[in-house]
Amino acid sequence: MNSQQVAFGIDIGGTNTKIGLFDCEGKLLAYHHLSTRTSVKPAEFIEEIAQESNRILKAECAIELGDKRVIGTGAGAPMANYFTGRIEHAPNLGWKDVPLQKLFEKFMKAPAVIENDANLAAVGEARWGSGKNLNDFILITLGTGVGAGLILENKLYRGHNALGAEGGHILIPHEKRRLCSCGGMNHLESFLSASGIKQTIHELTGETWTIEHLGKLFYEHDLRATTIINTIADELISGLASVAILLAPEAFIIGGGVSKLGQPFNDVLEQKFNQQAHFSLKGKVKFITATLSAEKGAIYGGAALIIDEVSK
Ligand SMILES: [Zn+2]
Repeated sequence: MNSQQVAFGIDIGGTNTKIGLFDCEGKLLAYHHLSTRTSVKPAEFIEEIAQESNRILKAECAIELGDKRVIGTGAGAPMANYFTGRIEHAPNLGWKDVPLQKLFEKFMKAPAVIENDANLAAVGEARWGSGKNLNDFILITLGTGVGAGLILENKLYRGHNALGAEGGHILIPHEKRRLCSCGGMNHLESFLSASGIKQTIHELTGETWTIEHLGKLFYEHDLRATTIINTIADELISGLASVAILLAPEAFIIGGGVSKLGQPFNDVLEQKFNQQAHFSLKGKVKFITATLSAEKGAIYGGAALIIDEVSK
């Protein structure tokens, strides 16, 4: 890849789709987001993304899709399978059996790879973010849902059939019974998704708070907010302590909207971890915040992944 080449990183989420145009050093040249349209056929929506990408490319580089300087697209979406190039079923998007990689190649007129969105965010952090100097880390994204990406021995770990790293669906011990978006019971996502946290807030206070309000009160040392943070930290760590003894990561990187709670929240997580974790790991696993912003990790990862693919 030479200095004139550019790559697209795209992230299709349940609500918004983000498009980033990057140079080969990982510099974000242009960024745009549009509403994810699940009311039209997937092919129509990917064509719309391509038209928007073309507009960005003309404005930034005075070239168009199909130009050889555009090396390709790395795109993330829920349940996107790197190996098959397809989405078998993504309930958040209402998509079933979508040949996503082929659609991107057709409309973007260049090579494409697709990947689970949390995996891409982990690739982004590994290349250009908080994970740059770590060989083994686990990214946990706490947003609308809960996701995970595993970088083990400096490589993204996908598991058999790319079905690994679904951290949101780790079963956790709990005295309550709470349904998960997947239909399972007492998964991490039941408690740590935005709606799960809001449910806990309501159970403990009888009030309706946003996550931002929780963060504000937590920073003001409000007693109720501190109780809520302790509760959700206990729940998160009861899942992560088991993951840690299996994989021994150097760090958990916290991304997604909840990562805006910042270092004070990480400190609570680290303290809970050192209470719950196996003795061999106590004091040895760091909790750090994702640096590529809560929203943009996956588009950085998309660019990094396609740059790697074309230089193989
Ligand atoms: Zn689940």
